[in-house]
Amino acid sequence: MKRLVSAKTVVVKVGSSTLTTPEGQIDSRYLTRLAEQLSEIRHSRRNVVLVTSGAVRAGLSAMGLDGLKAGRRLDVPEKQAAAAVGQSLLMHTYSQAFARFDQKVAQILLTRDDMEDRERFLNARNTLHTLFHLDILPIVNENDSVAVEEIQFGDNDTLAALVAILVDADLLVLLSDVDGFYPDSLPDRPEEVSRTGAPVAQIDRITPEIERQVKRVVSEGGTGGMYTKLEAARKVTKSGVSMVIANGRSPQVITRLLAGEQIGTFFPAQTDDLGKGKLSSRKRWIAFGRKPRGVLVVNEGARRSIVERGKSLLPVGLTEVHGRFERGEMVSISETVSGEFARGLVNYGSDDLHRIAGLKSAQIERVLGYRDFDEVVHRDNLARTDVADSQSPQLMDAEGRCQRS
Ligand code: GLU
Repeated sequence: MKRLVSAKTVVVKVGSSTLTTPEGQIDSRYLTRLAEQLSEIRHSRRNVVLVTSGAVRAGLSAMGLDGLKAGRRLDVPEKQAAAAVGQSLLMHTYSQAFARFDQKVAQILLTRDDMEDRERFLNARNTLHTLFHLDILPIVNENDSVAVEEIQFGDNDTLAALVAILVDADLLVLLSDVDGFYPDSLPDRPEEVSRTGAPVAQIDRITPEIERQVKRVVSEGGTGGMYTKLEAARKVTKSGVSMVIANGRSPQVITRLLAGEQIGTFFPAQTDDLGKGKLSSRKRWIAFGRKPRGVLVVNEGARRSIVERGKSLLPVGLTEVHGRFERGEMVSISETVSGEFARGLVNYGSDDLHRIAGLKSAQIERVLGYRDFDEVVHRDNLARTDVADSQSPQLMDAEGRCQRS
């Protein structure tokens, strides 16, 4: 995997079960080994972000509230309290571990809201880039103490994928307690997942079949599992970021990966070379930063003009509108209710769209009494989610300038 050697910006995510002991305490020796590797790759002039889990688990253990052992489900306020306790312990241990390698660190806690709102997304991005510039290694976690369901990422695989998109990474490494993706993570062999032998070395495309087959199994003490890892791979590879799932306990796993060794399962970016043909930052935010509030089902002609010619979505191509949303919100654009191929920011709310679906743009005013836009979703505010959208003719970058993708 020679291409990883040239990765300039790397996001590494480590899961709770990897960085805590079976008793749920932070494994400071492990954190030291991790800090050593990350400092080494940082010192080789790469930008590095660490996305860490473990706050809830460490907090529970410190509070003597380990639900895993007590055999009961913890309620949300208990987990939030645990995260508040655990996060400071975690950062304390990381700061000490990185200090041994002369590497300064910073803490960034994010919620889903920070990605949904374009301005906050750009603020977070600026902060991360400033930290890179100042040679400080950002350590990111979800802000679990304030995140309720509506604003949750829910798991750190998803968070790490969005952080990789946020910082325009070349590579995302998910460190887990398994060696990679095994074909027997499939449900035809559900219970006895044999983890002997080598995992699948490379997955070029996450087909809906693979996604459907992977069970939503969660590793003990974590909230992710193979399903969320594949979802992360789907998001990042379409945004031009490569991903690796590897065992976080393998010796020197990060430095070996970045030296080009083949370890774990590699998901190549869906563009030719690292860094080339990526979606613009704004398009990636449209495609993956926000949750869609509704679904627009379009006819074949509209699908083709979007997919093949990078055009806007017009009302004439709209056949069904699902969900309730206001103008300016994110919608999924699909051929069928579940066949999403694009997302975009919509120019009309759902009530108005029900009334103008199937009409020519010239008829909008007669029906609605106003016509602010000819398009339902303008092409500048639309991004493909099925493949890397590298053929869209005109894209806008984060500052609103037009550029080629
Ligand atoms: N943010 C959670 C924590 O730090 C972990 C979520 C996850 O592991 O996916 O405890």
